[in-house]
Amino acid sequence: MARRRRVYEGKAKVLFEGPEPGTLIQYFKDDATAFNKKKHAIITGKGVLNNRISEYLMLRLGEIGIPTHFIRRLNMREQLVREVEIIPVEVVVRNYAAGSLAERFRIEEGTLLPRSIVEYYYKSDELGDPLVTEEHITAFGWATYSELDEIMNLALRINDFLAGLFIGVGLKLIDFKVEFGRLWEDEEMRIVLADEISPDNCRLWDARTSERYDKDRFRRDLGNVEEGYQEIARRLGILPEAGPRDLKGPETLQ
Ligand code: UDP
Repeated sequence: MARRRRVYEGKAKVLFEGPEPGTLIQYFKDDATAFNKKKHAIITGKGVLNNRISEYLMLRLGEIGIPTHFIRRLNMREQLVREVEIIPVEVVVRNYAAGSLAERFRIEEGTLLPRSIVEYYYKSDELGDPLVTEEHITAFGWATYSELDEIMNLALRINDFLAGLFIGVGLKLIDFKVEFGRLWEDEEMRIVLADEISPDNCRLWDARTSERYDKDRFRRDLGNVEEGYQEIARRLGILPEAGPRDLKGPETLQ
């Protein structure tokens, strides 16, 4: 295989130049980081699971009319996506109190919120992703009012759909983070869902026992991180056939 140009390397993924202009290959690594990279580990098989889980969720969201950057999965660790201009805002939707919201307002984790809450964080490792308001986003030119309106609508539709999908398999969607990008097609610009949706950026608890299956297992040293991700994949009916050993996947040339 020819060497491909590495366009960007993030904490959990690498982006390579795609086969055609306007496309990228998104490679899922096994690296896990938390607390702005202060904590780092390799979780064997995580990249393979996130690739599958994100593929599955992006396809289901596409079916209900949410525009996404996803084109198709290429192999165990890679997917082909459309190249978009990432809007530097992390959009968090919360249904139950957890993490930073539980801390900020001293609400017990797992408390149902009066309604779903959308928050924005400015994507900046240097600043530690600070919480921002619409005012900051529009004043600093990260997105326009109309783009934000579209982003908020899409985020709430994504939340409604995913919360229903997960409760169908006995999982509570506590909260999640998504990112959006601008996609140009013949002079027209559309806002599309980009990045990934996986247990790295969702909190998913067992609906009955409140057991956590997501990245909090890593953040909080609860152990068995890979098994948690596997359980989510298993419930979605997408655990790779050959079982855990299949999860390492082939090594691809970089
Ligand atoms: N999240 C994320 N990336 C971040 C910060 C948060 O994907 O850089 C996700 C996280 O997995 C959770 C939601 O966003 O599902 C809300 O996270 P929170 O603000 O509670 O932050 P945390 O407790 O993770 O620091």
